[in-house]
Amino acid sequence: MARHTHEFQCTECSGWNYPRLSETMDGNYTIICGNPKCRHEHYRHIKKGVVTEDRHNNAADHGDTIHVMPSAFTQTKRKLGTVTQLRQAEAAGLNT
Ligand SMILES: [Zn+2]
Repeated sequence: MARHTHEFQCTECSGWNYPRLSETMDGNYTIICGNPKCRHEHYRHIKKGVVTEDRHNNAADHGDTIHVMPSAFTQTKRKLGTVTQLRQAEAAGLNT
């Protein structure tokens, strides 16, 4: 089961979350911001492990609540290269 790092911005604290999601995830998920001072709940629709801009919809199944770890949160956006490196490490099975 492949897992990939995804990037999405918290609208509440404007920080960046980098949760690792499985490609099998499909449906309405609640993602909790990894900023310990924020913990904002995002109601997002996830399609094949990708966080979409859509909010929950009634047609989809209800998924789990995802708690983003504080270590997967940064206040400033990570450089694209950093995320690419993470993905490459994952693809090589180095970071599972
Ligand atoms: Zn936040």
